[in-house]
Amino acid sequence: MKIHKHEAIIVGAGGAGLMAALYASKGGADVAVVSKLYPTRSHTGAAQGGIGAALGNLDEDQPIYHTYDTIKGGDYLTDQAAAKVLAENAIEAVIELEHMGLPFDRTDEKRISQRRFGGHTRNFGEELVRRACHAADRTGHMILQTLYQQCIKNEVNFFDEFQVVDMIVVDGAVAGVVAIEMGTGEYHVFHGKAVLFASGGWGRCWSVTSNAHSMTGDGAAIALRRGIPMQDMEFFQFHPTGIYRMGILITEGVRGEGGVLINSQGERFMEKYAPSVKDLASRDVVSRAIYLETRAGRSIKDRGYVHLDIRPKTVNRFFAEEGRKDDFIDDGYVERKLPDILDFCRTYLGVDPVHEPMPVQPTAHYAMGGIPTNVDAEVIIDAAGTVMPGLYAAGETACVSVHGANRLGTNSLVDLIVFGRRGGMQVADFVKQADWKPLPADPTEEIRAEFERIRNGTGKTRAGELRAKMQESMMDNVGVFRTEETMQQGIDELAELRERFHNDIAIDDKGKIFNTDLLEAWELGCLLDLADVTARSAISRKESRGAHSREDFKKRDDENWMVHTLAYHDGNLQTPTYTMNFERKVDLSLWEEEKANGVPEDKQKFRPKERVY
Ligand SMILES: Cc1cc2nc3c(=O)[nH]c(=O)nc-3n(C[C@H](O)[C@H](O)[C@H](O)COP(=O)(O)OP(=O)(O)OC[C@H]3O[C@@H](n4cnc5c(N)ncnc54)[C@H](O)[C@@H]3O)c2cc1C
Repeated sequence: MKIHKHEAIIVGAGGAGLMAALYASKGGADVAVVSKLYPTRSHTGAAQGGIGAALGNLDEDQPIYHTYDTIKGGDYLTDQAAAKVLAENAIEAVIELEHMGLPFDRTDEKRISQRRFGGHTRNFGEELVRRACHAADRTGHMILQTLYQQCIKNEVNFFDEFQVVDMIVVDGAVAGVVAIEMGTGEYHVFHGKAVLFASGGWGRCWSVTSNAHSMTGDGAAIALRRGIPMQDMEFFQFHPTGIYRMGILITEGVRGEGGVLINSQGERFMEKYAPSVKDLASRDVVSRAIYLETRAGRSIKDRGYVHLDIRPKTVNRFFAEEGRKDDFIDDGYVERKLPDILDFCRTYLGVDPVHEPMPVQPTAHYAMGGIPTNVDAEVIIDAAGTVMPGLYAAGETACVSVHGANRLGTNSLVDLIVFGRRGGMQVADFVKQADWKPLPADPTEEIRAEFERIRNGTGKTRAGELRAKMQESMMDNVGVFRTEETMQQGIDELAELRERFHNDIAIDDKGKIFNTDLLEAWELGCLLDLADVTARSAISRKESRGAHSREDFKKRDDENWMVHTLAYHDGNLQTPTYTMNFERKVDLSLWEEEKANGVPEDKQKFRPKERVY
């Protein structure tokens, strides 16, 4: 066992982790970033469409419109003050990225170019606005490269291919993490004054997903097992346009550039579901529409997918109908604006989107829920907002909550940059005044026992088989549409899988060097815990809101459910029990302000309203 001592330990080197590391180090902290992937391989690098900020470079825009869209898009579960922080800080953060050297696309005046995206509007829903700043369709890739270079310049210490497997808690405060060095199988203890989890999402709980194989929610599962509640886990976003059966994402930017969804009858069906914003309705709405079209027998070849059409001849036909002749596009434009998407489709599907429509279906995409934090990325452990000293979280693994029940496109990259930065600054301040907590005699003891159990298992079940079953079950039972019955079925199936995971698991590789067989089996345990919490949170919430759509409770219920879900795990790895808490109220401060200022009800912008498109 090796021990490393750094004031701030950042788990994860995606956009959130790198931004936090950069700012903690700028604030004078000695920072170590521990990452299971080489930093620039993090999932942030797959983000295509863009990062939202009300720069107003092409259309009139303001942070308050961005705040409004974020709250409305989140179906009013968004904490309003947090959404305001996100929208206001976004502008500075994007300009800062530009100054760090991020090569954004440009307007004719050489300003940062912006494109339309679902739910981005001007003047409180009046009309669509161009807000998504982008570097072609590889915005996330550029963010990662830019931030990694800045971190290197700032002498951040990187521990690449070190997988964090446990968190060390001493007297109710965090004292570091335990990691396995993947190349040697050795245990390393990272002793720190502060730990910030930026370990990404867990789309791998579902079988059709846009998420990379590494998105197994390790950080969230580790925190959960150490007593940190998970907030709003029932809200998991299905992106409407994943490549049929593969799940690989086709960015919403395609629809932002004019692409349309077409069913087997050749109809642009979003005109029915969202007459004003059509294909750019928020993701939950479009995903449900695809399912409803499928149910009505109007998917292509009756196979559960529809067509996404960006062929200039189709797009221009609809632009002409809408009187948008100035927006007409040609083949060259599509090639220039969406090079990676064209490449994916040509390579993986043999489909050329310039000449043929793309087959798409909803794909599990983004965790709105996660480790609860305040707007300074401090982790909170109860409904009263009590902070756990030294523990921070940012990025997809955290729940601030700015995304509420459904995240708007481009708001995740904003979240990483804004709250990664705030977290980094907070960590730098914290470590200046905090004392070192002494480590327990052997901090690796418990987690080593769990790894030895998996390594020495003599059962008949392989992790891959259980993972596939879990993913199918989550897709069928805790997917786009849910009922009490399906969710209970999901919970029962998960219990069975968990039982086999604990009593009948076996791996083939017993070695130490790059034992991905062992690490993947451990990751399956993380996924099972998060799937379980998702299903249990979902069955507890007896309403439909945002991405949580119940056929047995079709309506949003603001009277009883304007609350965040907090789910606790009792720490038992074999047969955990869960406790739910619904006492954390949604922050409605912008609406409260309007009421206090005497704004009449029909003029209140932030009052929870039915969504009309
Ligand atoms: C295909 C795709 C396209 C997207 N497009 C957009 C978009 O256009 N705009 C937008 O706003 N959002 C987009 N999103 C969402 C957004 O990209 C992600 O939510 C965001 O990048 C997550 O960033 P992160 O820093 O939280 O985590 P990630 O970038 O996922 O990084 C996680 C990090 O944690 C590390 N890690 C994980 N587990 C461990 C462990 N046990 N030990 C050590 N390290 C660990 C990994 O090594 C990695 O470095 C997209 C997502 C996908 C999947």
